[in-house]
Amino acid sequence: MAKYIFVTGGVTSSLGKGIIAASLAKLLQARGLRVTIQKLDPYINVDPGTLNPYEHGECFVTEDGAETDLDLGHYERFLNTYTSQANNVTTGKIYQTVINKERSGEFLGKTVQVIPHITDEIKRRMLLLGKTGQFDIVITEIGGTVGDIESLPFIEAVRQLQWELPEDKVMVIHLTLVPYLKAAKELKTKPTQHSVKMLSENGVHPDVLVCRTEEPLGKDIRRKIALFCNVKQEAVIEAMDASTIYEVPLLMLREKLDIICLKKLNITDYKDPNLEKWKLYLDKLKYPKSKVTIGLIGKYIELQDAYKSILESFIHAGAMNEVKVQVVNVHSEFITDENVEEKLDGLDGLLVAPGFGARGIEGKITAVKYARENNLPFFGICLGMQMSVIEFARNVIGLADAHSTEMDKKTTNPVIDLMEEQKKVKMMGGTMRLGTFPCTIAEGSLAEKIYGTTEITERHRHRWEFNNDYLEQFESNGMKATGRHPETGLVEIVELPHHPFFIGVQYHPELKSTVEKPAPLFVSFIAAAKEYNEVSGSQKSSLLRDALI
Ligand code: GLN
Repeated sequence: MAKYIFVTGGVTSSLGKGIIAASLAKLLQARGLRVTIQKLDPYINVDPGTLNPYEHGECFVTEDGAETDLDLGHYERFLNTYTSQANNVTTGKIYQTVINKERSGEFLGKTVQVIPHITDEIKRRMLLLGKTGQFDIVITEIGGTVGDIESLPFIEAVRQLQWELPEDKVMVIHLTLVPYLKAAKELKTKPTQHSVKMLSENGVHPDVLVCRTEEPLGKDIRRKIALFCNVKQEAVIEAMDASTIYEVPLLMLREKLDIICLKKLNITDYKDPNLEKWKLYLDKLKYPKSKVTIGLIGKYIELQDAYKSILESFIHAGAMNEVKVQVVNVHSEFITDENVEEKLDGLDGLLVAPGFGARGIEGKITAVKYARENNLPFFGICLGMQMSVIEFARNVIGLADAHSTEMDKKTTNPVIDLMEEQKKVKMMGGTMRLGTFPCTIAEGSLAEKIYGTTEITERHRHRWEFNNDYLEQFESNGMKATGRHPETGLVEIVELPHHPFFIGVQYHPELKSTVEKPAPLFVSFIAAAKEYNEVSGSQKSSLLRDALI
């Protein structure tokens, strides 16, 4: 049977529970243990798929098509293993299951209550992955902050498990903040004391405290926290602000977080951590040889979490190319024909981001046109790919009103149209084309060069598609569909062979980029941007495709 580590958060949100959980998991994995991480979110949405990116950041999609919290992206990027439907549970999912059971008569005669029925269902989900036999350790991150009304049933479930499971099968890590008061030149432990007290009032006692801090904790502070919070001094872990999240596993290694957990869980069969690859990656990341500037054209740019996986993919790809990728956010709503040159000046590559709805669309199309006409490396993802198709239809083929029916239902040239299977869809939640699908790549294409194969699988999240009625027109005018779904013929990749680097993909390659396996498209895109950056201004316009790959 697997062992369980619960990670709770106190004092404030955004302390980085996901990164701490992922870092601990990485260390345990590097010591030879089989680890997975799951996230339990206290909100009532069944999944974050229906949430606006402004509300909750990016929606991460798993191989099996679950729309999940963006922390699952961190788990995958750190561990280089896939998560699934089972790794993200919300209050909505818990209640839905319990209410369905009630309706089908499973509780007949009984009053259905938060305790025990909701907490039983939470516990079932907490233990589920551990029962598959695939993992030695399951780390469960509890979303929200201790003291929130909505996370109470989750904390109560942890309390019950702390008593029900043998002592060496369960432990709790509590993440808190130790603020530094500049005026007093002092670290303050009171918020941590209060937060542990609140957790204890709910019956849960933490075994380890991970303290986020700007300044080193020092022996006295550690002793004080240990004394007031009833944890061993060695279990007070300092989590200093790091220059990159990828450094956190090494910080936690230094603090012996992994060893403390192994001790508490009575696990003796482990090896010295093998983190060679990780350290190599970190070195490349921290000491780049040059810099490229990429324009990220999107409409949610005020909130960086909205494009989390894309930004992390750039970091992975930058390290591979030994360059620093500086991402310049360009708000698509404010790009016009008049200012496009000025807005995109100095960029070495252009990524047009995924998205939904009409806002900012024309700016995206204008940006694509600029990249196409100026040999600027272009990479379009999902909606970004669809915009490159519309731009080409309008400005090269000459279909002036070409559009996507997502934005203009009445267009006479719907070059992007609703997928057939989507036409009957009424419910919004979990009904897009989601998860992994195969794609066959054309021989001799840029995509084949990049992937080094003609058969790939990538993850999807969309309702609209390239309208194959127009395919011949596109191909004869120079835009090629170089990736198609093998059975349906759905266009997954478009390219402009006469452009040095112009590629649009209907899928989301950013969702599969990990530290160990950076997404090939991002790596090549950054390589192309690097080349573009290196050639002098006058040569840029005469760059040939092969020069950049
Ligand atoms: N809105 C587009 C669609 O549904 C693109 C989605 C996306 O970019 N993820 O097809």
